[in-house]
Amino acid sequence: MRFEVEVAGAIGQRVSIRLRDGDSFRDLLGVLRDEKSLVKKDGTVATFSIDQIAYFRVVPVFNRVKLEISDLHLYETASRQLQKIEGEQVRIYSCGPTVYRDAHIGNMRTFLLTDLIRRSLALNGVDNISVSNITDVGHMSENLDGSDSGDKVLEEAAKESVEPLAIARRYEDRFHKDLALLNIIPADFYPRASENIPEIISAIEKLIAAGSAYCGSDGNIYFDARSSDSYGYISGNKLDALKPGHRYEYIGDGGKNFHADWALWKLAGKRSEMIWDSPWGPGFPGWHIECSAMSLYLLGDSVDIHVGGIDLRFPHHEDERAQTNALAGKEVVLNWIHGEHLLFEGKKMAKSSGNVLLVSDIAARGLDPLALRLALMENRYRAQIDMTWQSITAADATLQRWRKAMAMWGDGAEVKFDGEIYSHFMNDLETSKALLRLRAIEKDESIGAQDKRAIFLFADQVLGLDLDRGVEADVEIELTAEARQLLDQRAAARAAGDWAESDRIRDLLAVDGIDVRDGKDGQSWEIRR
Ligand SMILES: [Zn+2]
Repeated sequence: MRFEVEVAGAIGQRVSIRLRDGDSFRDLLGVLRDEKSLVKKDGTVATFSIDQIAYFRVVPVFNRVKLEISDLHLYETASRQLQKIEGEQVRIYSCGPTVYRDAHIGNMRTFLLTDLIRRSLALNGVDNISVSNITDVGHMSENLDGSDSGDKVLEEAAKESVEPLAIARRYEDRFHKDLALLNIIPADFYPRASENIPEIISAIEKLIAAGSAYCGSDGNIYFDARSSDSYGYISGNKLDALKPGHRYEYIGDGGKNFHADWALWKLAGKRSEMIWDSPWGPGFPGWHIECSAMSLYLLGDSVDIHVGGIDLRFPHHEDERAQTNALAGKEVVLNWIHGEHLLFEGKKMAKSSGNVLLVSDIAARGLDPLALRLALMENRYRAQIDMTWQSITAADATLQRWRKAMAMWGDGAEVKFDGEIYSHFMNDLETSKALLRLRAIEKDESIGAQDKRAIFLFADQVLGLDLDRGVEADVEIELTAEARQLLDQRAAARAAGDWAESDRIRDLLAVDGIDVRDGKDGQSWEIRR
């Protein structure tokens, strides 16, 4: 075939192709991925066959670095290696928030990790389905270190004399608002544990039938850890090396057969709220089984990427894997991806030391919440960070400088592929290096303003910093017709005393960057910069 050799020699380069399509032509411009496809500027992939080619040419690229188009690679915990993320539709499960407290910036770092994965896949034209659970029951009566200090939701509900689920919903709302402030693209599904009890019960029934779970002498249902041959696959914590006395999930589980077994269903005991009927009596599910049941229910028995903070690696993910594989009869998760710890001002964030930093604390200092996003991306997700006010403030200054520069560089909408930035994203989300490259481009006098702007726009597809937002003083504040309509609807809802509707609309507006306040003279609004 005429173009075979040329095509084979141009893989990884930017090419222009004209395809014969019946009597007409179809033109393609993008980076050649292989002999059959190229990645277009907008990240979508176009396919062709060599015998269709009427015209073929390598297009000189701006940065003259040989472009290596590649798949996204991520560091996978179990294999301790970089793994290629394959497939046209990637299934992602992320362990979501426990909604009896606000998610702090360390939690947000994990949710940002999922966002960076999804945006990088999108850059390759790869679709994804994303699920993030909401733990509103089952993990409420213990802290991550295993110490039990009572059910937080029930405690708070009693204190405020409100329904326990109202507390959970309040924190869930704040979680979604924080995600929006950090430009984290919402998951496709946010299943709540409390609304998936039938799925959880049926998963436990299946585990009992398969001989992987049993009813303990105390009436609780436990998973039989020894029924999982490969326990320790993710964390390396093999059962024979785990000493009795290690705090696994719940303490005071006197009824289990083996010290490493964990509870799937706990009987209500003295609890009268947040309990459900089950074949084993009223009670509530354990935390680990919730993720197994909901991921199998929504994603099926093949999950490409499972994301969580490093503290969930053991026991949560190890236990989750044992349950999920026992239910599916196969290895369900292909890649376990973990985000590293974050310290704040040199210390582990803890309520007791009073140094828990929330997204709202950043806004309260007059800083753009996206400055946190930028500050987090100055390090790769699997490096430990010591976050400081100084680094967030510096990131805020960079953000403002870049937005000003973008406005100075014109208003073009062109997005220019930059091979170096692209390969940093694909190489295990090396965001720190992508940011360094942007700083170099910003200073490089040999690069024209239009190209600078176009490359910044390219990078921002993954960085998600709203670099084209403009700077407050330069932007004319104007509401969209939709926002005006929402404000009117909210005023009407308040006049009718429909507070739920009024809150719902306020949240919708908040997602669009419009903060609504209520005063003596009715509502007022402000567009967040
Ligand atoms: Zn989980």
